[in-house]
Amino acid sequence: VRLRDNSLAEGQQMSGAVNQEVDGIQKSVSEAVELDALKTAVQSRVIIIRNHVDRFLENEESRHGESHKIIESLTKKLQQTEQQVDGLKQQVAEAHKQAMTDNLSGLPNRLAYEHYINDELARFNRYQSPFVLMVWDVDKFKSINDTYGHAAGDKVLRIIATQLQKSVRETDVVARFGGEEFVALLPETRLDAAKIVAEKLRQAIEDTEFHFRKQRVVITASCGVAEVKQGDTAISLFERDDAALYRAKQNGRNRIEVA
Ligand code: GH3
Ligand code: MG
Ligand code: MG
Repeated sequence: VRLRDNSLAEGQQMSGAVNQEVDGIQKSVSEAVELDALKTAVQSRVIIIRNHVDRFLENEESRHGESHKIIESLTKKLQQTEQQVDGLKQQVAEAHKQAMTDNLSGLPNRLAYEHYINDELARFNRYQSPFVLMVWDVDKFKSINDTYGHAAGDKVLRIIATQLQKSVRETDVVARFGGEEFVALLPETRLDAAKIVAEKLRQAIEDTEFHFRKQRVVITASCGVAEVKQGDTAISLFERDDAALYRAKQNGRNRIEVA
């Protein structure tokens, strides 16, 4: 802005000076009595005019160069700011992912599960899209920890997480609810189909190869299966699952029960 103000002021100044010289020329012409004297007078004024114009052009050129530099440095600053914003966006996305992920298993954690279940409930309430919630609990996990140690227990949890994850559809969600409990959320699924899936998962866990000091240790889990129904909340649905899971434990473990 300062450069453009200067340019305008100097332009006006030059215009004034040039007009003054032109007036002078006209005056010399009208008052002229001798040609040689007129010639000299006109020539000297033309030189003055040329000097004014030259000086103005020189200054314009340096202003042009200066504004070019300013634009370059602003462009650089803008690029740096854009890079910083990109970096911050990545950090936010990373922090969000971290907050939704269980460290031990790499599965979505309980917080993430709560988002998923609320989404499914909203879909059910709006479009009556059915879905099934499963709650899984590892059998006698305390004795696994006690017998083989906590590190082995952690490894078992990771293996089961992987097993559950790879045995469901891509649109299904498996999350670690806490401790040795996992949940599976199956969108667009009815109870009959879910029972088959649960049985498949139960078998997959039982078939898992877990070895401790070269001895195979059989891991099993029990499951409660429930389909969403009218008026359900995340809590009421989970409670039906939990009641079914309790029955599965009562009835001998390594089995599924349907609510
Ligand atoms: P049940 O068949 O009735 O479910 O028996 P359980 O032993 O699995 O049940 P209980 O709830 O008494 O024990 C769960 C155990 O899980 C207790 C706790 O020490 C262990 N546990 C919870 N979270 C973790 C974890 O992150 N790592 C390990 N290694 N153990 C855990
Ligand atoms: Mg438990
Ligand atoms: Mg258990």
